[in-house]
Amino acid sequence: MKVRSLLCLGVFLAFCPADAEPFANAGNELDPVIEAKIDALLKRMTLEEKAGQMSQTGKSGKQLPGSVEDEIRKGRLSSFYDVADVEQRNALQKIAVEESRLGIPLMFGFDVIHGQRTVFPVPLGEAASWDLELMEKTARVAATEARALGIDWTFSPMVDICREPRWGRIVEGAGEDPYLGSLIARAKVRGYQGNDLSAPDAMAACVKHFAAYGAPEGGREYNTAEVSLRTLRDIYLPPFKAAVAAGAVTLMSGYDDLDGVPATGNKQLLTDLLRQEWGFNGFVVSDWASVEQLVDHGIARDKAAAGVLAVTAGVDMEMVSRTYIENLPRLIREGKFSQEILDTAVRRILRVKYRLGLFDHPYTDPKLQEKVILSAEHRQIARQAACESMVLLKNEGNLLPLARTVKSIALIGPLAGHRKVMLGTWSTGAHAEDAITLLEGLKNAVGNGCKINLANGCDVDGTSTNGFAAAIDAAKNSEVVLLAVGESEKFNGESHSRASLDLPGRQHELLKAIQQTGKPMAVVLFAGRPLTINWAMENVPAILLAWHPGVEGGNAISDVLFGDYNPAGKITVTFPRAVGQIPIYYNRKNTGRPELAKYIDLPTTPLLPFGFGLSYTTFKYSNLKIENPEVTIPGMVKISAEVANTGAVAGHEVVQLYVRDVAASVTRPIKELKGFERIYLRPGETKTVTFNLPTSDLKFCDINLEEQVEPGDFKVWVGPNSAEGLAGRFELF
Ligand code: BGC
Repeated sequence: MKVRSLLCLGVFLAFCPADAEPFANAGNELDPVIEAKIDALLKRMTLEEKAGQMSQTGKSGKQLPGSVEDEIRKGRLSSFYDVADVEQRNALQKIAVEESRLGIPLMFGFDVIHGQRTVFPVPLGEAASWDLELMEKTARVAATEARALGIDWTFSPMVDICREPRWGRIVEGAGEDPYLGSLIARAKVRGYQGNDLSAPDAMAACVKHFAAYGAPEGGREYNTAEVSLRTLRDIYLPPFKAAVAAGAVTLMSGYDDLDGVPATGNKQLLTDLLRQEWGFNGFVVSDWASVEQLVDHGIARDKAAAGVLAVTAGVDMEMVSRTYIENLPRLIREGKFSQEILDTAVRRILRVKYRLGLFDHPYTDPKLQEKVILSAEHRQIARQAACESMVLLKNEGNLLPLARTVKSIALIGPLAGHRKVMLGTWSTGAHAEDAITLLEGLKNAVGNGCKINLANGCDVDGTSTNGFAAAIDAAKNSEVVLLAVGESEKFNGESHSRASLDLPGRQHELLKAIQQTGKPMAVVLFAGRPLTINWAMENVPAILLAWHPGVEGGNAISDVLFGDYNPAGKITVTFPRAVGQIPIYYNRKNTGRPELAKYIDLPTTPLLPFGFGLSYTTFKYSNLKIENPEVTIPGMVKISAEVANTGAVAGHEVVQLYVRDVAASVTRPIKELKGFERIYLRPGETKTVTFNLPTSDLKFCDINLEEQVEPGDFKVWVGPNSAEGLAGRFELF
C-alpha cells in the first residue's frame, strides 16, 4: 500500500472498513483457532464483562467501587500494572480463573524498563553502545526474569525520539535519531517477544508513548507537543512504525496534547494511522489515567465523554481510570453508543491474552525464579552492557586507563559509594543491595595493594561545602583522583524535568576545588541526560560518562578505568553548551542564512555532537569510495571506507554513515544517520567497512506529505561522529 499522510487518510478510509486490520505485522498473522475462541467468548460476555476486559488497575485498587478481589470476581477487571510477585499474581489469577463467571485470565503488566531484577544500563546509556544484538539480549534477559516473576507484559520499549534534554524521560529512550531509534525499537521488541509469546523467556512488549510525548514544550513533563505533521512523520513516528512492523503486540497512548488533540483521544493517530495504515492488530492501552485526563485537557466535558472519546479514538484498555466500565455499558443500553466498538477492543485484548498462553497456563510456577533471577550469566551480561554503554568524553594525556601499579586513589564525590545511582530510574523490580557501587567495584579491581581514600565532598544536591576540606586532603594524599559526580537516580525520569542542566548542588564547586590541588583527576559522570559540563570539558583531563549503569555498574566502571575494557560508547543525543541552545540536534535544517543563524553570546555548535565518543586507541579513516555514484531509483548505493587502529590497544569503533539530500521538494536536514557498523580492530589492523544503502532509506515526506525518494544530488560522510568524516557524493536518477 502506498504510504499516506495523516491528511490524506480521509480518502483512504472511504475504501477500508474500520475493523478490517488488513496488514498483520511480523508474526502477528491472525490465528483462526484463536479468533474462533474469541468469537465464542464474545457471544457469552455481558456488556459489563466486556468493559471489564478493557479495564486495568493497580493492586491498591484505590479507584475501584469494591475490593480488587470482588471486582475480579465480577469480571470487571482485565489486568494489573504493578504486580511483580508470583504469590500475589497467582492468588489474583485464581479468583479470575476459578471464581469469575467466564474464567478469563488476568494479564499482568509491569514497568520492566531496563531489566527486572538484573538491572541493565538506563536505555539512553545502553543506546550509546550502538550494539543491537546486545540490546536484544538484555531485553530477552529482562523477559526471562519478568516472566518467572509472573509478569506477562512490559511497558517498554519507550521509543520517543527526544530533542529536549530538560525532559527527565529522555533517559528512557534511545536519543534523538529516528534511524538508530527505529533499529533499537525493533531489537527491543524482538528481545522481549521472541518468536513465541507464550515461551518462558518472552513477554508482550508495549511501545510507548504514542506519539511525540518526547517533544514537550520547554521540556516540561506532560506538556503539549507542538510538532508539524512532517516532523511527526519524518522524526517521531519511525521508531513506532518499526516496532509495529517487528510485531509489537501492544502500544501505549501518550499523555501529550498533539496539535490540539491529546494522543489518548486522537483517532487519526490511534486508528487511521496505526490500524489502517500500519496494520497494527494488537491493542492500545492508555497511559496512567490518561483517559479521564481528557477532561483536564478540555476536550471532554465529563468522564463519560472522555471514555467515549478515547474508545472511539482507539484506546482499547484503560489504565487506572474507570470511565469505560462506569459509562460504556450504560450508554450502549441507552442506545447512545455502538456495542461493536467494545467487541473490537475486547477482541484485540483477548487475542494477546491467548497468544501469551494465559488461557492454557494462567499461573506462574513459583520455582521458576530460583533458576533465572540475577543468575551469574545475567550479571555477566549486565557487566558487558554497562561496559559497552560507557562513553569516554575526554582523555587528555592518556590519563586513563589507570596503571595497575597505582598505590593510592582518592575517590571523591557524593556518588562514590552511592548504590541507587547505579540502578537509575524505573528500577522498581530491583533490590538496591544487588548493585555494586563504584567504591566496591574499585576495591574488587585493585585488591589490597592500593589504598582508596574516600571522601564525599558534598551531597548530590545540598548547599553545604563542609566536606570540601576532607576531600581536598584525600586528593592531596593520593596519586590520582577519581571524582564521582552527576545526577543521582532522583534527578531524571518521569516528572523530573530540569530547567538547568548543570551539575546539581555544589558538585561543580567541588570539581573546581579538587582541580586546584593539581592532582591528576578523572571524572566519572553519572547522568540520565546531557549535562552542561563545559567547565569540566575544558579543565578536567579525563571524563568517563557512566550514565546509570545497572547492577554491575561499579565493576564495569572499574573494568573501563583500568583498561580491561576499552570504551567505545558514543552519545546518541547532542550535548548543549547551555540550556539556551535547546533545541539542539544534529539533524537540523540549514536555513537560508546559515552563517547568520547564530547567537551573539555563544557558538551554535554543541558541547558534544551526536555520535561522539573516544577510545583508549585512535582510529584513522581513509579511502572513502562511492562505488556507484550514479544510481537509478530504486537501487542501492555502495559506500566504503577504510578504518585503521592507529593506537596501541585493541578496541571497537562505531563507524557512522551520514547523508544529505542537497536539494529536494522540501528542505532536508544537513545530515542524517543512514548506517553504522561496530567493528573491532587490533592495533595496526585496518578494515574496510562497506555500507549498502538502499535508495528506499532516503525517503521522506515530500511536499504533499507522501513518502518519496527524490532524484538529485546527495552528500555522504563516513566518520566517527556526526561532526567529522570523509566526504563524498552520489546522485539519484
Ligand atoms: C508512565 C508510563 C508507565 C505507566 C505505568 C505512567 O505514568 O507514563 O510510562 O508505563 O505510568 O506505570
